[in-house]
Amino acid sequence: MKLTDIFNSDKVCISCEVFPPKQGTELQNSLGIVKRITEARPSYISVTYGAGGSTVGYSAALAKEVQSYGLPALAHLTCVQADEAKITRVLGEMKNNGIQNILALRGDIPSGAQGTGGCFAHASDLMRFIKKQGDFCVGGAAYPEGHPESGSMARDIDNTKYKVEAGVDFLVTQMFFDNTILYNYMFRLLSAGINVPVVPGIMPVTNANQINRICQLSGTKLPPQFRAMVEKFADKPVALQQAGIAYATGQIIDLVANGFNHVHIYTMNRPEIIGGIMRNLSEIVK
Ligand code: FAD
Repeated sequence: MKLTDIFNSDKVCISCEVFPPKQGTELQNSLGIVKRITEARPSYISVTYGAGGSTVGYSAALAKEVQSYGLPALAHLTCVQADEAKITRVLGEMKNNGIQNILALRGDIPSGAQGTGGCFAHASDLMRFIKKQGDFCVGGAAYPEGHPESGSMARDIDNTKYKVEAGVDFLVTQMFFDNTILYNYMFRLLSAGINVPVVPGIMPVTNANQINRICQLSGTKLPPQFRAMVEKFADKPVALQQAGIAYATGQIIDLVANGFNHVHIYTMNRPEIIGGIMRNLSEIVK
């Protein structure tokens, strides 16, 4: 099933992600995580791709496993250190495994490197190539607070437009903790003529150190009420998880109330997080 079919429906849908293990010895554990996440019945599960394609085999195994439970997989694919031959091979394997949905990304440039080190400079180049290789439904990343390398929000929007011109079918956003940031961003996207479906990405916080580190890297701002919550429960992981799920649930309900039917959850391989959110939304996601 193509994700655009899900995005075109009026039903409220929640998706989530899994990330692959770094070593084959952990694959069995990851497959178990996929099974537990599918029990929450998200609308699809995305499978991330390790930096520089380091996890390609494990990502493929997880995507195949997701689909074995009757849920569509969204396979992430990056073009750092990738040439056309490698991408063609990976796409061929995806086709053989029935994967129809790909989130096409540049990936992070390794520190000290100049550019991607492959033949695709930007995600939009990869998207154009994938579109020529088969009938894939292709998504891309979007940054409500701007990508750290963009320089300005105006340039970020211009660069996002390249993704639409390359044929992207939908966009999934970087996490944000203040919905007004997303609403302002949507206004900018629509003003620039970008009207493909945008899936807001929400990260339920469960670990104070982790969230501070991620936000420093991505430039995501922490609103005062969120910061107060993280500080209050920093040393009480179970309480922080409960508060994080409640905060994320509040964000999702506000998004749904303002017309977003689909929200993506960054679950960090924690089935209990997507389970908690789905329980909180049981009458909303039906
Ligand atoms: P691009 O679209 O190429 O953008 C990168 C930078 O170049 C931006 O600053 C952009 O403004 C600029 N740019 C784009 N096009 C042009 C152009 N034509 N000319 C000049 N400048 C341009 N990383 C992983 O390694 N694995 C994953 O699985 C993964 N999943 C992700 C999922 C989501 C939803 C998000 C938001 C990010 C994910 N990332 C992942 C991180 C992502 O790879 C990084 O944010 C990366 O730095 C940029 O990727 P991109 O696809 O947005 O690249």
